[in-house]
Amino acid sequence: MTTKKGTKVLTEILNIQGIKVIQMSQQPGIGIILQVESIHRESHCHHCRTKSNRLHQNHRYVVKYLSWGEKPVFLEINRRQFKCKKCGKPFSEKLDFVNNRRTYTKRLADTIIKSVLSSDIH
Ligand SMILES: [Zn+2]
Repeated sequence: MTTKKGTKVLTEILNIQGIKVIQMSQQPGIGIILQVESIHRESHCHHCRTKSNRLHQNHRYVVKYLSWGEKPVFLEINRRQFKCKKCGKPFSEKLDFVNNRRTYTKRLADTIIKSVLSSDIH
């Protein structure tokens, strides 16, 4: 069980805009799994642009993030699906860091470069 203070620190380390860490767990033989979700309570309907916070379903999936030491880190993302109040259609929330793969890859590269540089200094 991760403490509230612990997840706050992890959110700061992760430093992905609009995303917070809600739980961290270690899976033997797999690595570290960070459960993350959007900090926003609502999203805009893709069909009519109406803001909605009526939760329809939770869609969880896991992406490989990077490695801390020898442990691979995975993000378990909860991409929520809302049901629009106006047009009644379900829609998935937009998660910028997942949709924009170029930014995501760049962030990975930056992090790796930084860790290489800091290990040179010590
Ligand atoms: Zn709608």
